[in-house]
Amino acid sequence: MAANGIPEDVLMDNDLIKDLVDVAKDSALLNGVLMRTKETPNSSEVVTYAPFTLFPSPVPKDTFHQALAVQTHYNRLVDRISQDSSFLEEALATTIKVDDFTGRLFNIYRHVLQEGKTQSIVLGLNRSDYMLDQNGDGSASLKQIEINTIAASFGGLASHTPNVHRHILKVAGRLEDSKRILDNNPSAGLAKGLAKAWELYGSERAVVLYLVEELQRNIFDHRYVENELWKRNIPVIRRQFEDVAKTGFLDQDKRLFVDGREVAIVYFRNGYMPQNYTEQFCCGCVILKLMQSLIIMTMYISTHLAGTKKVQQELARPGVLERFFPGEPDVVDQIRATFAGLYTLDMGPEGDKTVAMALAKPDQFVLKPQREGGGNNLYGAEICQVLEGVKQSTERMAYILMDKVQPRPVHNYLLRLGTPLKLSTCLSELGVFGAYVRHGQDMVLNECAGHLLRTKSDEHSDGGVAAGVAVLDNPFLV
Ligand code: ADP
Ligand code: MG
Ligand code: MG
Repeated sequence: MAANGIPEDVLMDNDLIKDLVDVAKDSALLNGVLMRTKETPNSSEVVTYAPFTLFPSPVPKDTFHQALAVQTHYNRLVDRISQDSSFLEEALATTIKVDDFTGRLFNIYRHVLQEGKTQSIVLGLNRSDYMLDQNGDGSASLKQIEINTIAASFGGLASHTPNVHRHILKVAGRLEDSKRILDNNPSAGLAKGLAKAWELYGSERAVVLYLVEELQRNIFDHRYVENELWKRNIPVIRRQFEDVAKTGFLDQDKRLFVDGREVAIVYFRNGYMPQNYTEQFCCGCVILKLMQSLIIMTMYISTHLAGTKKVQQELARPGVLERFFPGEPDVVDQIRATFAGLYTLDMGPEGDKTVAMALAKPDQFVLKPQREGGGNNLYGAEICQVLEGVKQSTERMAYILMDKVQPRPVHNYLLRLGTPLKLSTCLSELGVFGAYVRHGQDMVLNECAGHLLRTKSDEHSDGGVAAGVAVLDNPFLV
């Protein structure tokens, strides 16, 4: 068990923990670490604290800084992949044959390519996620789990959790430790990217449109970034796909108007689920309309595709990163150092080898389909079940295989509404936010926008905060 500065006797002192938990929940409410309830997801009449850990979790200082330092390279990588249609075509050729969802995304992408793009300003907001793999000598290596190029959440709430953990540590008598909790402000970092793109668009009246889901439990996370925009006098409206489909129209200059308001930027907080792309709920049609307009988006189908697990696996092949960073071996090394083992399941000897390897040691791997939002991956016995079923067929190409990263567990309490308090053995995942803006060929903004630590009980292999598994946390640098 790794130390997070909290001795085991403190963790086991039930009376102290009960007091601290009360203090912690109030502190979360006072600091605006909030969420709507499951019962009333579209009303703020009754709200609760967003789930979080009682104590911060240890993260080695050098790996933390390594993750921050590589982020601007990842921003450039996503941007370059999204402009390389022949790479996307090759990388996803087998996947789109068997995975209907990626196939649909790819069809929209082909339409967009045919039409040609109107807007030369490109905005990217992403979050690269990592776990720290334990090495035999007690050290840890930073390993990327995935990169989220659409609707990455919790930048807003993560800007407010540091004060909660500082307060808890002070009340627990650990003043010196409380001073070690880092400031973090992804709200400002993400808003900076949005604001830069909005300025380049060049119309004071034009709004930033948040494209949101029907259920809006996590609205406070959005509001923090929204408020950063309002502070800069940038107007924000929130709409769903249907609203844009119903009232959106393009004028003769291809400017988009929704409910009569000119839209400069569409910020996608939705649109990553297969059900978004069915015939009756065709946000694909809306996206196509948006792609033909002059607006700037936080998600182009090409960036969505650049964030797929299949592309992640293709990037890990020898020589592929070099294609995107010619003459920059240091950048290639920095990115590659964060890759875990990734293996193809395409038909052929290489894919056969992957199948054999996974079936022999399923506990050492994760089997991943092309999905987002948590809860889709397969582990252990499930890997064998699924692979036995698809190993002879092309269906296996819908997945990739990845080394399972094995972080060092830490004891902590996870505070979540309706969940009884208990000491859990926990694993953490560090996310780093990135923001970039490109105008034609010029990168006019490329920044690391802050971090996010999420922690879950080791009873769960998969699932994020929204999925009800992980909770918000802060790194305690060791
Ligand atoms: P999603 O896009 O659904 O979030 P992820 O690749 O992030 O997909 O996987 C979801 C969760 O599964 C992660 O948050 C992490 O807890 C776990 N996970 C994914 N890949 C690995 C891995 N290689 N090793 C260990 N855990 C993993
Ligand atoms: Mg994801
Ligand atoms: Mg994830």
